[in-house]
Amino acid sequence: MNKTKNRILIVGGVAGGASCAARLRRLCEQCEIVVFERGPYVSFANCGLPYYVGNVIKSEEKLLMAKPKRFREHFNIEVRTETEVLGIDREKKEIEVREFKGGKTYQERYDALVLATGASAIRPPLPGIDLPGIYVLRTIPDSREIRSAVKDASHAVIVGGGYVGLEMAENLARRGLSITMVEMLDQVMPPLDPEMAAFVANHLRDSGVDLRLGSAVESFHQLPGGNLSVRMASGDEIDADIVILSIGVRPESSLAQQAGLELGERGGIRVDDRMQTSDPNIWAVGDVVEVRDVVTGTWQPVALAGPANRQARIAAATINAALHPDTTSATARVRFRGIQGTSICGVFGLAIATTGANEKALNRAEIDNYEKIYVHSHNHATYYPGAKEMHMKVLFAKGDGRVLGAQAIGEADVARRIDVISMAIQMGGTVYDLEESELCYAPQFGAAKDPVNLAGMVAANYLRGDSPLAEWEALDGTQAQVLDVRTAAEYKKGHIPQAKNIPLHQLRDRLSELSKAEEIWPVCERGQRSYYATRILLQNGFRAKNLSGGMKTYNNHKVDKA
Ligand code: FAD
Repeated sequence: MNKTKNRILIVGGVAGGASCAARLRRLCEQCEIVVFERGPYVSFANCGLPYYVGNVIKSEEKLLMAKPKRFREHFNIEVRTETEVLGIDREKKEIEVREFKGGKTYQERYDALVLATGASAIRPPLPGIDLPGIYVLRTIPDSREIRSAVKDASHAVIVGGGYVGLEMAENLARRGLSITMVEMLDQVMPPLDPEMAAFVANHLRDSGVDLRLGSAVESFHQLPGGNLSVRMASGDEIDADIVILSIGVRPESSLAQQAGLELGERGGIRVDDRMQTSDPNIWAVGDVVEVRDVVTGTWQPVALAGPANRQARIAAATINAALHPDTTSATARVRFRGIQGTSICGVFGLAIATTGANEKALNRAEIDNYEKIYVHSHNHATYYPGAKEMHMKVLFAKGDGRVLGAQAIGEADVARRIDVISMAIQMGGTVYDLEESELCYAPQFGAAKDPVNLAGMVAANYLRGDSPLAEWEALDGTQAQVLDVRTAAEYKKGHIPQAKNIPLHQLRDRLSELSKAEEIWPVCERGQRSYYATRILLQNGFRAKNLSGGMKTYNNHKVDKA
């Protein structure tokens, strides 16, 4: 190897590592770049793995985005697979490496080192956790094993109701298995707030999943025939042919820890906005790092492919700048802006997307000067065939209306709405910006008042004082008169116990039935008719607050408590 060339060594060859290597080469034709990957493959699509198990992606080859040969031929990058990095000597600027084949151990010198070691699946030390038939899904060999086990299986227990758990539920069902999903929390999908997660829980149950919330696994056992039994803390036992553990991941930061690099409270490597660690010669990217959340300001690891790829490009640029201090390229000044956790997941035809902070995160960060609104609308004009419901929650600052976060659930076009709001958050946008966003519209694609506009309008109406809001959490303790403005038939089908029914079209003629001494909280199915009612009441001298999200949100709250 040429000792005069700058040597950049990269540990981990998938999303962050491979992306960093390729970008580095585009920036520096003279550098020597070597990627070390413990597994047999580099640059594979781990996000596609659940769909390979489900046979939607039929060939393993499709998951391989680039092979070592391509790295060598296109990028002049050397890739060493099945090669583990064992340690870092920061004084000597060397790493210790072991080849799995033959067991050879050797040292490699670096000028810059990149840690892109990802995250590892959490396997809690429960009795029986290592029994055959219990799987995690992180790699192509994992997916291969699960595919093979599925052939003889008819029932799966999925432990954990996060992204991978949900995707596995859909894909195992696709392969003909019945599913029990056990989740220790009382909601699925932790990025959602509970009343929004209830839509997903209902959908899972409607899709045939035996969903058990608030259920902790105590141990796993092998039954005489070879099947597994999952014993729950409640005493329940669930038989399974296979078990999928999707409890979450933790940063694979052991190399960094051994080398004495600064770690965050959540175990991820601390990096600055250049993706540089506490050692100026070492960078880190992807699932292994802790970065600042742009909304809450807290540091946290985020296991998402988008941030890993963006961080990799930034690390490449700042490494190149560090190795070439005389560079005048503007690329040297790129910086990582922080994370928002923008993500999406599909399950049985439902899409669930989030961006920014949820209410739980705001509360954890002790940010209480926020408000929330709900919009239950449709993906496009309802007069055009095929419109699908879309449920949205938007959180915003009470003072200036800055958008803090959004969650959306629906069968179609959910990503588009969350992507727009994600951009608004990144640009420091407010609910007034959402109100004024000019978005695509034709009947089959959207609505003249898009759900994003509607969310902005509801929030702006609140901030301007045109439509005060009441929260459903406050219902139990309130002295307010709850006024159900739906039709008598809708009211009869189910209503809030203390609600009085005056349908909207009769309200102007029946105002004398209401007392000005007490606050009135109009409610309807989705919050729109109750908004009209709120405006009528306010203009007639009543004190009124629209019950946020209407019965759609209220019912979820009740379901969740059931
Ligand atoms: P990884 O891609 O995990 O790569 C790290 C690599 O480092 C591993 O291959 C590992 O073998 C290697 N390594 C670790 N230690 C060493 C060592 N000491 N020596 C040598 N090599 C080492 N994200 C999304 O945004 N959307 C999705 O839909 C999505 N779906 C997913 C589905 C599944 C099943 C999984 C597992 C993940 C999914 N993700 C998704 C997450 C996304 O894949 C990760 O955020 C992304 O891959 C992180 O990239 P990374 O480079 O940090 O880590």
